[in-house]
Amino acid sequence: MRTYDKTDGALPLAPRNEEETTVLLQEALGMAATTGLLMRSAGGSRADTHVKPAFCHAPVCLLPNALPVQEYVKARRLATIWNLLVARIAHDGPWLLQTLASVLPHDEFTRRLVEIFQAITGAERDVQKIQLGITRSDYMLHAGESGSGSPELKQVEINTIAASFGCLSTQVTRLHQYLVQKVLGHSRLSSKSFILPRNETMRGLAHGLAAAHKEYLRQESVMFNPSQSSRPGRRPCVLMLVQADERNINDQKLLEICLWEEFGVLLHRATLLEVARNAHLDLQRRQNLLLVSPLISDTCKEDVQEAEVEVTVAYFRAGYDPSDYPSEGEWKGRELIEMSAAIKCPSISHHLAGTKKVQEALCRPGVLERFLKDAEDVDAIRNCFVGLYGLDPECEGATAAVAAACNSPQHFVLKPQREGGGHNLYDQDLVQALSQMTAEERAAYILMEKIRPPPFEAFFLRDYSVLRGLAVLELGVYGVYLGDSEGKRVILNESVGHLLRTKLASSHEGGVAAGFAVLSSPLLVGGPEDSGILSKKYFSTLREFTMSARVWRRQRFWKIGATGIAFWGVGLFLTYIAVSKRSGKLQ
Ligand code: ADP
Ligand code: MG
Repeated sequence: MRTYDKTDGALPLAPRNEEETTVLLQEALGMAATTGLLMRSAGGSRADTHVKPAFCHAPVCLLPNALPVQEYVKARRLATIWNLLVARIAHDGPWLLQTLASVLPHDEFTRRLVEIFQAITGAERDVQKIQLGITRSDYMLHAGESGSGSPELKQVEINTIAASFGCLSTQVTRLHQYLVQKVLGHSRLSSKSFILPRNETMRGLAHGLAAAHKEYLRQESVMFNPSQSSRPGRRPCVLMLVQADERNINDQKLLEICLWEEFGVLLHRATLLEVARNAHLDLQRRQNLLLVSPLISDTCKEDVQEAEVEVTVAYFRAGYDPSDYPSEGEWKGRELIEMSAAIKCPSISHHLAGTKKVQEALCRPGVLERFLKDAEDVDAIRNCFVGLYGLDPECEGATAAVAAACNSPQHFVLKPQREGGGHNLYDQDLVQALSQMTAEERAAYILMEKIRPPPFEAFFLRDYSVLRGLAVLELGVYGVYLGDSEGKRVILNESVGHLLRTKLASSHEGGVAAGFAVLSSPLLVGGPEDSGILSKKYFSTLREFTMSARVWRRQRFWKIGATGIAFWGVGLFLTYIAVSKRSGKLQ
């Protein structure tokens, strides 16, 4: 068994010949169809899919890709620190506004988001103090200056809104478990040479939504007497805000089904425009968000209460791109949600805390220390940064950074305040943009040093056929945070799972929905220094991430319980000795 090797990009797992590749392809297509590892085919409208679903397998890697085990463990551990960091940034309104100020004159979209934020906080209309954060921090392996030394994960960005593909990534791990064992015949994926870690993202995300739903209902029961809090016929539910022409619909439906089956919580999907048209706030209570049930047709709406659902959690899988707001109606929908008592995922401040400008500001000296008290946490986060440069005229080093990028564009990425892929500028496009913009216009962008991942060979399955090529990978780690924005009351703070995306080394961008990358899963291997054998240290630290979350929690519970009983026993024994001594029994 060969392990990860940064110099020759050896594959730990590969099909042995053409025939095996064909078998893997057929098995993968069957498994994808059966487990819902699908995406809606391009071109079908949302209305069409109600009648005639047109789904295709999600683009995937045929086999998992090697990733150094220590880097995986590091990234999983960072998730809870990121969760807290983002929550605290979101709470620090003045810092957030000051940081984003230079972006606003030339970025109308961010300006409108900031205006909503100001309207809510300024008028103290923020009636919900608890927020749900579903974050995904994305990393790529960085080979370092000379390509020497072990590659380390460096952060690409943190997503605080609509971090997608969590459920499909759970299904990709299942697919790879199945293919490797059935076709390649490697029966022990948790061997000393490699581990295919469990991926419980789907359940972890559903658990976060269910916990937020429960918290909302708890608040209601504390604030109102039972007859007021739960109006007959008005069912509480989670609302997922979606794009009208969403292709990644299975990822969303899998979450909806998991939330219902595992936690008994209903989820409805609606667009921002549908919210604007069909929702209102219950002003007699605390601005509860009531929505005409998306399932009930216009003719059956006589009993208004029967037809309405009460939104406990507003979960945004849309609303992060200007194209999500083609009319004022969508903005109205967003404002209605932000003013409501529903727990937002994310709140508008959480959304803004994930902007590229904030990411750049965090690199400046002393900024991480403002939000994180623990020096080890600061070091761990700072260690995953590459060079980030603000371009507003007041930013120290802005002129030098622009000059460096124009001279060596291959070492930089120019990023606007956008999400969803396809917005960044590279190479000559970057040079042209920087030289055409005024200094003020540049302030809406950040410059980022390019991460240089070591390429390896991979097998892509796309549009029913297999393509072999040199690839690079991007690891995303999902975090779930439920608590107040100060980080004082933390109900949930977890690292729930991962997403591995693999793309052709020649491609700049990395989005799966945008068509640049495919879904994959990490095959954890010892770093080059371990000569292929996973060390004991990593085996034990990996337990919490490779074991089922439920088993892990149960084991941890028993461990804590046993320790408690042991302490209690020792205490009792010492008390007995002390009492005996005093009463003269022991001399
Ligand atoms: P978006 O929010 O649009 O997804 P990202 O910052 O994640 O923007 O960038 C999109 C893609 O571009 C990433 O998935 C990655 O593949 C590539 N990319 C972004 N930043 C860098 C970087 N510093 N070095 C190398 N590739 C990068
Ligand atoms: Mg991204």
